[in-house]
Amino acid sequence: MIDVAVIGGGAAGFYCAIRIKELAPNLNVAIFEKTGKTLTKVRVSGGGRCNVTHDCNKTSELITNYPRGASFLKKVFHKFGVDQFLDWLHAHKVQTKVEADGRIFPASNSSETIAGLFEFLAHKLNIEVHRNHEWMGFERENNQFQHEFNDRLNSKKINIHSKYTVVATGGIPDLGKVIWKSDFEWIAPVPSLFTFNADKADLNKLKPLSGVSVSNCRIKVMGEKESYQGPILITHWGISGPAVLKTSAWMARKLFDNQYKFKVLISWVGELNEDDLRTLIYQEIEKNSKKLWKNISIVDLPNRLWDLILNECEIDTNSICGTSSKKLVNRLVESLLRYPIEISGKTTFKEEFVTAGGISTESVSPKSMEIRNQPGIYVCGEVLDIDGVTGGFNFQGAWSTSEIAARAISNKS
Ligand SMILES: Cc1cc2nc3c(=O)[nH]c(=O)nc-3n(C[C@H](O)[C@H](O)[C@H](O)COP(=O)(O)OP(=O)(O)OC[C@H]3O[C@@H](n4cnc5c(N)ncnc54)[C@H](O)[C@@H]3O)c2cc1C
Repeated sequence: MIDVAVIGGGAAGFYCAIRIKELAPNLNVAIFEKTGKTLTKVRVSGGGRCNVTHDCNKTSELITNYPRGASFLKKVFHKFGVDQFLDWLHAHKVQTKVEADGRIFPASNSSETIAGLFEFLAHKLNIEVHRNHEWMGFERENNQFQHEFNDRLNSKKINIHSKYTVVATGGIPDLGKVIWKSDFEWIAPVPSLFTFNADKADLNKLKPLSGVSVSNCRIKVMGEKESYQGPILITHWGISGPAVLKTSAWMARKLFDNQYKFKVLISWVGELNEDDLRTLIYQEIEKNSKKLWKNISIVDLPNRLWDLILNECEIDTNSICGTSSKKLVNRLVESLLRYPIEISGKTTFKEEFVTAGGISTESVSPKSMEIRNQPGIYVCGEVLDIDGVTGGFNFQGAWSTSEIAARAISNKS
């Protein structure tokens, strides 16, 4: 018999268990992890550096980075946001650093600092950690839970009783179906945060540009209203970079429904609108009227990309700028503002990926993280239908929801 059974030995499970013990040391808390290893994603996160959160302490701004769960998180972040998590880390002697793009990492540049701290605290606070224990479900018995675990090392079933249950099983696809089918709204998970594979014909054009990056682009899925801004990187399989990852996150479900076959239109000139771009092109043509196209650059683009665009616009780079027709300028405007790439698949982004979907936030109280029709069961982390764009927002969602669950359980006890 234990007080709190925490299911899942990842970021949310560990942080929640630690906070329960810090707030209510009298409670006995155990973590049950189905695999032989805990904190696996923390260790590989951020390319091994663990992007723990983002430099954004305004809730209204922070929530704009969550394609799913923003209004739920607004209530959660008001109680526990970026600053509060950083205070906690700093109080535990972890120094952090903010990078130019706002991502926050441990100053050590090593995810081991975070994983090590969690493991150290779990040990110090007498939190039992049971690896190779797969949660199979539970029954309610006189205001308690009787859990069934599959002890994977010894191939046997184990029953454990607890007063409270924290579900922190991450973004796994089958939990809803297997365990609580009817008790809450379950939104089928689909991948988020991936890069785009160009279709064969477009890939042939782009491949020689592999490694080229453009810092200020806008990308839009054809037929959709929204476009997403940021750097784009041309890869040997298609396109990547923050603007692409943002698009994959905000449009995760739609792109899944399209089986990852769609067309994107890229503006290589960021915020420049059509009129301003046209004016700029005419001004430059006038200024350089005696020069050859190959010797001028109208917008700030890497040479290889500029050459590709001129080539696609059928502009003879050995011709004189001043003789350019209106038709040619129109083609150039179109190519710079709405460069089409046919997409035929996706590739997992190695540094960070998550699932969109999980337990609907409608079924959960943001004040306590307790499932509304399941008293005593708390949920936190990626198992919820909450996910952010890349940059530390996914971990922040995990820390904040775990903190609220820990406070609610410690208050009740
Ligand atoms: C490669 C990669 C890099 C990332 N980098 C970053 C980053 O730098 N910054 C950022 O903000 N986010 C990052 N993320 C996302 C972030 O890791 C997740 O959002 C976060 O780990 C979610 O924490 P969690 O505890 O909810 O889930 P998880 O970390 O997935 O932990 C869930 C745990 O539950 C266990 N489990 C599942 N089912 C059961 C069961 N039935 N019984 C017992 N245990 C079970 C799983 O084995 C797992 O250990 C990254 C993700 C990946 C994949």
